[in-house]
Amino acid sequence: MNYLSTRGHPDRKRFCEILLEGLAPDGGLYLPEHYPQVDTATLAKWRELPYAELAFEILSLYIDDIPPADLKAICAKTYTPEVFGSEEIVPLRELEDGVYLEALSNGPTLAFKDMAMQLLGNLFEYELARRGAELNILGATSGDTGSAAEYAMRGKKGVRVFMTSPDGRMSPFQQAQMFSLQDENIHNIAVTGVFDDCQDIVKAVSNDLGFKRKYRIGTVNSINWARLLAQVVYYFAGYFQATASNDKPVSFTVPSGNFGNVCAGHVARMMGLPIHTLVVATNENDVLDEFFRTGIYRVRAAADTHETSSPSMDISKASNFERFVFDLVGRDAGKLRSLFVDDLGRQARFDLSGEPAFKQAAERFGFKSSRSTHADRLATIRDTDKRFATLVDPHTADGLKAAREHLTPGVPMVVLETALPIKFAATLVEALGHEPARPARFEGIEALPKRVVKLPADVEAVKAYIAQNCD
Ligand SMILES: *Cc1c(COP(=O)(O)O)cnc(C)c1O
Repeated sequence: MNYLSTRGHPDRKRFCEILLEGLAPDGGLYLPEHYPQVDTATLAKWRELPYAELAFEILSLYIDDIPPADLKAICAKTYTPEVFGSEEIVPLRELEDGVYLEALSNGPTLAFKDMAMQLLGNLFEYELARRGAELNILGATSGDTGSAAEYAMRGKKGVRVFMTSPDGRMSPFQQAQMFSLQDENIHNIAVTGVFDDCQDIVKAVSNDLGFKRKYRIGTVNSINWARLLAQVVYYFAGYFQATASNDKPVSFTVPSGNFGNVCAGHVARMMGLPIHTLVVATNENDVLDEFFRTGIYRVRAAADTHETSSPSMDISKASNFERFVFDLVGRDAGKLRSLFVDDLGRQARFDLSGEPAFKQAAERFGFKSSRSTHADRLATIRDTDKRFATLVDPHTADGLKAAREHLTPGVPMVVLETALPIKFAATLVEALGHEPARPARFEGIEALPKRVVKLPADVEAVKAYIAQNCD
């Protein structure tokens, strides 16, 4: 399998080449040259497989530069009941007639990012060892992504993580999750400032090409194709659990921010998995809902990005959206560039409302969308508790609300549960008056010793810290 850039760069690359890269050299995102097709005989075979073997089958279609036995071992080592809490890895439960929750949040950090990041950690370790190379991952986090990256990379050979976060601005639970890691290769940097300061520092360091090369700086952000690919697997696993045979369509609702999760659903659908509808659920930051309703994609300014109670969906632009739009415009890289380079560059928006492509988003690609607000979130959390004695986190609540607006009779609706409620305890307390239970392994983590350095919001200070800790 070869990979191409959405912006038309002539180079073609193999999986392991793009594994450790971010954007393509022309600023585009990598996609496979084609989507392998899965027929009913294959689906029938896959239905019987345990999760790790299903992951191996799907990954093999996209990865041909890792020997199969090695890839199989990597999948087996990643998707274990010990790490993900159950034999099914992503167990499905029926909430009400025809509406299901697929649990993606029972990994080490209790959010769905573990599903991909745990695999990425093992792939990185494997590929770096093969090359005899090292990588220093530099990131900025206000919670989820940073902790998922740290738990994926802890103790991995050849990898160090330098994770900046705004000092004192994460929840005590999230701080404890990250700062209690004592692994030598994990470095928590609490920056005196806000999340944007952390992001600016990461950008400045990455733009210093000399420093970047000397210290082998890399990232693990959500545009990484390997992360997206790992997420394709749980659409198949959810489908098999929601149906008894392979001729039945299923719909999915996906709490969305950077469009990585739902883009994996799009890939699964393109491969031939019988997905009826893909519902994109957004919060008040409704860039994506606006597009799917109107055909206009309008990137927001930082000042117009709301801080909401489903914070992992607080985005001003959706970094993976370009992948879907590439397919939407018939993989025409020239057209894609005119939208993402010319239009977005000039006026921070593009408009497909008058074009046939926009109609296809719903008709051919099965996309629908909805948005919800803080009040909706609280109401859904209360209702789900009262009627089904089930606690959902605020992001999953956004999903449930959207799902109910797009039900099709006779078609199971699977809502992806993207985090456990304990991660967002303050909102649960606001909705219900009490804290959600926490899994036993997180009892008392706030009291554990913390491993973190405090640095000023200053690029040079962060660079000096990295340099000091890289020998
Ligand atoms: C990251 C995240 C999302 C958004 O996922 P995208 O892939 O960015 O669309 C939703 N919910 C939770 C809990 C998350 O951590």
